[in-house]
Amino acid sequence: MPDHDFYFTDKARGYPAAVERRAVFDSLYSGSRGRSTSDDCRQAQDVINRWRAKVNQLRSLDCSGVRGPRGQWVRNCPPTGVVRGEKRQLRSCNLDRVCPWCFARAHAVGIYKTLERALFLDTPARGKYKLLLRSETLAVEKGRSYFYALSYGRGLVDMLYKLNQPGSVGFASLIALYPRKDRWCASVRLLSVVPEDWQAGDRWKASKPILLKKQLIPYAARFGSYPAGLLAGDGAMLAQYLDSELPVKLKSCFGLLTKRTFNGRASKFKEEGDGPGGV
Ligand SMILES: [Zn+2]
Repeated sequence: MPDHDFYFTDKARGYPAAVERRAVFDSLYSGSRGRSTSDDCRQAQDVINRWRAKVNQLRSLDCSGVRGPRGQWVRNCPPTGVVRGEKRQLRSCNLDRVCPWCFARAHAVGIYKTLERALFLDTPARGKYKLLLRSETLAVEKGRSYFYALSYGRGLVDMLYKLNQPGSVGFASLIALYPRKDRWCASVRLLSVVPEDWQAGDRWKASKPILLKKQLIPYAARFGSYPAGLLAGDGAMLAQYLDSELPVKLKSCFGLLTKRTFNGRASKFKEEGDGPGGV
């Protein structure tokens, strides 16, 4: 299969597509304020070029996730938030630990859909809740593994979850791992659904009461934003991370944001949640 030429659109079709674009472009390109939508097409092509270069690097390191013919398929992972009219059905590579599009689909679009269901479908609660978002970055010492960074991040999630819990009816966390120079970093993102009159601490960015699905876009995109360090980082460290057969659990959720509480059973969320560290 040759490299696929993608056909880009300058407007996102639908909110999930808009979330996917923002999750990738806002973290990779600074100065997105005042940007035009045609920037999306240019940036999408740039991301594809950079991703293909990264895949080549991982292939040269004999990384099993991109070995053989699979590598070409991975190079053609489709950016669904920026293409349309594909004649040929292209499949996602599912390497969501490192691929920009799959990362955004798994985490940013994933949380958008979770929030949409929780706040608009299962518990119609227009204006009753607002969102709080917080992100913190940790870097571990040189020589420590990504697992160390992950457990360090989990400790922070547990602590912030306990502090936030009194007001929270739904909570999600994501620990995005990436290499920076010679060490692993953990970008810890926390999202909490709280009653609209809840007073958040200083380090939380608070939304207005959620009345429209559109308001979820920036929060979902920032929660699931793609770490630039994954495209820029050390290839050997990334190959090791990608090839890990040990379970790497990056996400957790609680209360209104767990799937088990959907289908109108959200009132039971306190008994059903299992805390951020446990799942
Ligand atoms: Zn992919």
